[in-house]
Amino acid sequence: MSNEEKKQEAQAAAPPAPGITEEAYSELGAIVGAEYITRDPVICQAYNGRGYGREAFWYQGVTQKPYCVVMPKNTQEVSRIVKLCYRYDIPYTSGSTYQAAAASAMFRTDFVMIDLQRMDKIVIDEKNMYAILEPSIIYAQLLAELYKRDMYFQVPGGGGQPSVVSNQMFQGQGVLCYRISPWPERRMNGAEWVTPEGEVVQCGIFMDNQEHAFWGQAPGPDLLGIFKGNTAWWGTLGILTKISTKVYPFQPEPLVPDGVQREAALNLPPRVRYQNYTLPNEDALKNAMREIGREQIAGAMNRVPAFWRTIGRSHSRQDFWDLWLKVTPEEVANTHILRVLFIGYTSLKQLEYEMKVAEDIVVKKYGGVARRTKQTDDGTFLYSIVTGMWKPTGFYASEMVGMGGYRATWQINADEIEVTKNYIKGGVFFDQYGEHPWYAPFNLARVIYSEHMAHVDCEKIDPANPRFDMNSVGGLLTFLESEVPKLLVKYGWANLFGNGHINSKLLLGPTMHNYHIWTQKIKSEFDPKDVCRKGLADHMDMIIAGAPMIITEDFKATAKQVAESGWKDAELADVGL
Ligand SMILES: Cc1cc2nc3c(=O)[nH]c(=O)nc-3n(C[C@H](O)[C@H](O)[C@H](O)COP(=O)(O)OP(=O)(O)OC[C@H]3O[C@@H](n4cnc5c(N)ncnc54)[C@H](O)[C@@H]3O)c2cc1C
Repeated sequence: MSNEEKKQEAQAAAPPAPGITEEAYSELGAIVGAEYITRDPVICQAYNGRGYGREAFWYQGVTQKPYCVVMPKNTQEVSRIVKLCYRYDIPYTSGSTYQAAAASAMFRTDFVMIDLQRMDKIVIDEKNMYAILEPSIIYAQLLAELYKRDMYFQVPGGGGQPSVVSNQMFQGQGVLCYRISPWPERRMNGAEWVTPEGEVVQCGIFMDNQEHAFWGQAPGPDLLGIFKGNTAWWGTLGILTKISTKVYPFQPEPLVPDGVQREAALNLPPRVRYQNYTLPNEDALKNAMREIGREQIAGAMNRVPAFWRTIGRSHSRQDFWDLWLKVTPEEVANTHILRVLFIGYTSLKQLEYEMKVAEDIVVKKYGGVARRTKQTDDGTFLYSIVTGMWKPTGFYASEMVGMGGYRATWQINADEIEVTKNYIKGGVFFDQYGEHPWYAPFNLARVIYSEHMAHVDCEKIDPANPRFDMNSVGGLLTFLESEVPKLLVKYGWANLFGNGHINSKLLLGPTMHNYHIWTQKIKSEFDPKDVCRKGLADHMDMIIAGAPMIITEDFKATAKQVAESGWKDAELADVGL
């Protein structure tokens, strides 16, 4: 089959015709004003397939541009837009800064995109250590203000660009969560929620008084729990228009920006210090990390994969490949780097003491070697380098990302390395030479967060590109929809993307106490017409219905086994999965 024919085939599914009447459109315009509504196809196209993993959804025609975009300026306008959409049965979706593909419309073009970027208020209460934020405030803005006041907050792997509100709602985790809570609901004191039908509800401490926003939970049932959760609702249960979140004490010296573009970094003050260690093997690295957590020291730490270092050193994709092709699988197998961030929260003495404790563990006990370490940061406090993740292949997504106990995490990581080898041989993924997925402890090492980063060649999944290869698309989908979920259910690991939006809820639900039935019931109760991100919960099952071959018999057998006897029994009985 020629590339031209393949292109035709991949573009076959026609989107439904727009269903927004002129009357509804002009009423939307009356709410926000003519300046803040548009159906200009070029502007609307800018909202198609934005962000993380977008290539896979956009190029295959899953995400579509919205019918129109509206930009409300306050909660009242958001509420009026939502009520209007509800009355006319018009699907809508909200987005704050569009780092996640899921903010785009799926499969349909009759959507109103509610862009919250005009809602940009920020209040920082320094004395009581909390901030009240509207959706368009991004991490870089919040952090720049906090650092001036000797305070800090967690930063997600997605960097300084995402909206704090939507990231706290969506995931809200990064290596700086290690000491402060990795669960945003424990940081979030209050939230203002526009329900899918347009009612405005004050939740958490906001139900009492916004003046009290420095602490969480007013007495009484806390409605925050209905819409909050880890990668939970993907915007399908209404819109958060404001949150109050705790912020945390840091140290007094400034982090000074230096350099531009690729060279941009922060120079670290004396009370913030990185130390990289090389460990003799992976077990030593894991154990050292765990023991540092037990001693309740350090500000953050993580494992550094070899290809990250190559990304960090290269200035372009060509540069990356020139360097990467000189790296050998043996080098990767023998490189075990632990990066520890020390913060003297109270004094320089504290930092020095903690570094000595770490040395006792890493160097004396586990045979690690302290490496020469540059005292700049381009990846934790403001994350200027995050786009580097697209460098190897033009595509980046963490196919498996989540948390678990130590045993499950090490097991799933080991299996993942083996499974990925087949897909590398088949030309689907970039060859990381057997690299171990990266990991970092949260909550003072009570829990391990890990991410397997799979990079497909973005040209091979783009039907408009002459190198398009349907096998790469099929391989990626099989990996996502069968290989990853099979390991999840086998080991009982919590993949953040495995909750029914990126994976099939129909296949995974029975392995998880049919939890999806309860979430569906809640969704129907609050959104009986399903106008808020219409159909999103079903989109993966629709894709699977159209391409059933991406679900392997192996995954089906594992899921059945786990649904019948629970993952623990399935694993302990060694059912040969
Ligand atoms: C390279 C990379 C690495 C990443 N690593 C991490 C990481 O380590 N930790 C982490 O936490 N995240 C990580 N992310 C995810 C990233 O932080 C999310 O994309 C981000 O949380 C989404 O924020 P956004 O402002 O782009 O949201 P959007 O794309 O605007 O929206 C995200 C979702 O939330 C919904 N939504 C948006 N605003 C609202 C609102 N006000 N009310 C209700 N629903 C809303 C949208 O409909 C959508 O479903 C990473 C992303 C990238 C690109």
